[in-house]
Amino acid sequence: MAVSISSVSCQDQKLNIIVIGAHPDDCDLTAGGTAIKYARLGHNVMFVSCTNGDAGHFSMGGGTLAKVRAAEALEAGKRFGVTYKVLPNHDGELTPELHIRFDIIRLIREWNADIVITHRPNDYHPDHRNTSILVQDAAYMVVVPNIVPDTPPLKKNPVFLYVQDRFQKPYPFQPDIAIDISDVYEQKIYAASAHKSQFFEWLPWVDGSLDRVPKDEKERVKWLAERRKREITPAVRESLIRWYGKEKAEKATVAEAFEICEYGRRPNDEEIKQLFPMLGK
Ligand SMILES: [Zn+2]
Repeated sequence: MAVSISSVSCQDQKLNIIVIGAHPDDCDLTAGGTAIKYARLGHNVMFVSCTNGDAGHFSMGGGTLAKVRAAEALEAGKRFGVTYKVLPNHDGELTPELHIRFDIIRLIREWNADIVITHRPNDYHPDHRNTSILVQDAAYMVVVPNIVPDTPPLKKNPVFLYVQDRFQKPYPFQPDIAIDISDVYEQKIYAASAHKSQFFEWLPWVDGSLDRVPKDEKERVKWLAERRKREITPAVRESLIRWYGKEKAEKATVAEAFEICEYGRRPNDEEIKQLFPMLGK
């Protein structure tokens, strides 16, 4: 029997995935379920927050808040089974500066990333938009030896992906890949709930629901799971059908979807299945 050596070695190889969000909790919410699935299969996932989150609270701020959020991110990382890195840039003030682009190029190279995941460049939050620009601008540059010469370049451009959002202009999110995370949704929310200052303090304060946050730890996680549950959109359901088949796709209750960025490597279906070994299962 002819066995393709490249496909065997690819199956044996561990994948390296890096998710780059603007704030400590963005990676968790947009790709947390997928990250849990990768971690369970023994692959390496790193969550990166481009800012230290030092603006996201009503009664704390600055260094005090940054410390709280770093500790929360560390705990979330443990729960997800991923490495969590928080960059020392101020929350709400992120701009696409060259030194931050260089930091991102270093991180992608050091992680030897096969896949890089980030926000789309059109988003309500300036930090999300600028994170997207920083990451997009690292695509391709990660293989150029004369850029950031202190860190060896990657041999091939990773696949760059965008996380799902609800923004319609200039065009709505295109779910090229959709992962059924129904079986890990509870674990995702439990892991994300490590960001206590956000989910049980700051965000409820912003939307006026602070008095409805349950006091009991277990009740809180249940409450958060309800609040965070998003309907699977018709486009994402179509993508699930494509990757899982109709029967499995119709049973999915929660999904995470990704759009392929044109600036990274453009994978064909076969490569997508290798990069997302949980697809179809
Ligand atoms: Zn954010």
